[in-house]
Amino acid sequence: MVSKYDVLKLIKEEEIVDVLRELIRRPSQNPPGNEKVVAEHIFNTMKEWGFDPQYVYKPEAERPSVAVVYDGSEGKPRLVLNGHIDVVPEGDLNGWSVPPFEGIVKDGRVYGRGSCDMKAGLAAAMMAAKVVKESGVKLKGDLILHFAMGEETGEAGTKSLLEEGFDGDWGIVLEPTSLKVMTAEKGLAWYHFNVKGKPTHGSRPEQGINSIDKAAKLIKAIQEYHEEIEKRTHPLCGKNVCSVTMIKAGTKENVIPESCWLAIDRRIIPGETDQQVDAEIEEIVNRLSNEDPDFKCDWKRVMLYESAEIPVDHEIAEVVRKNTKEITGIYPEPAGTTGSTDQRNFINDAGIPAISWGPGYGTSHEWDEYVEISKLVNCAKILVLTIFDLLA
Ligand SMILES: [Zn+2]
Repeated sequence: MVSKYDVLKLIKEEEIVDVLRELIRRPSQNPPGNEKVVAEHIFNTMKEWGFDPQYVYKPEAERPSVAVVYDGSEGKPRLVLNGHIDVVPEGDLNGWSVPPFEGIVKDGRVYGRGSCDMKAGLAAAMMAAKVVKESGVKLKGDLILHFAMGEETGEAGTKSLLEEGFDGDWGIVLEPTSLKVMTAEKGLAWYHFNVKGKPTHGSRPEQGINSIDKAAKLIKAIQEYHEEIEKRTHPLCGKNVCSVTMIKAGTKENVIPESCWLAIDRRIIPGETDQQVDAEIEEIVNRLSNEDPDFKCDWKRVMLYESAEIPVDHEIAEVVRKNTKEITGIYPEPAGTTGSTDQRNFINDAGIPAISWGPGYGTSHEWDEYVEISKLVNCAKILVLTIFDLLA
């Protein structure tokens, strides 16, 4: 009988590195949404390996996601390995010391845009599925792989895959976490403000209302708000933050500005609701209006990712921690993320307990992004053990 340890031996470093390099060599920047080239490559590769991949043309017909179901004999339980196929743009090439889309290997690392975030996670999931299949071991439960579009721009790639029936009893979102098991993540809300003024000639400002001066009051209030909400913390995700991140105003040097536009980014720790955060923002604007009759401001929330959380000791987290310890020798302490991932689509939208956990770390969205090859290989091995523990 083939044991899970026999299957681990089928994972070859050279092969998984090659799989990752081929993913990196297909630039899938989003924006603008170039995922198709890598979606087709994954589809073809999985097909070659004997799987039956399927395209999901939602939410955008021209930017398909890919799903793979490797059927178990009983069809349950079901484990979903999820990753996004889009990467952020490479940015200024002068910032890179290696070409961003070649998958250069050096110093025990694979370099390139998407290596860390998160084509390494995709490569590990692909390899884990491949060696399980190759081993001939028949699983009881189904293994489902997601290759989702649109994560970097908050689009419904993963959400659509789940809605189309590629769901399960547990999810592992293979975002870069340095193999730490994240059971909670912060959400975020973006707000836009339009602070109104009254334009007049720069030589007689007393006849107008300077929208930049009024916006300065709002900025100060947001800074005070940040200091107040910073005191609210989550044991795994840390403290709350709120920052002014964009500002636009002014017509000409000698015109008192008629409006000033601002954006803020408010992170949301698990336990806070969007209604609560909206009410706090409203309170700030109302207070400023009451204090100053000339303070006039429209505002709206333009983006919301809810926070998400499962119990720290949930089965999926415990199994992955145990297997991480078995392969790396290090037991991952409970952890949460400060960013937002598709983990929330599993937990909040589909009611599926999920962790984020993956091989990359620390270089997401940076020049000279890389992933350590040892973590990539370990990730695939830990996935194999986890597949056996949950589905065999
Ligand atoms: Zn990512």
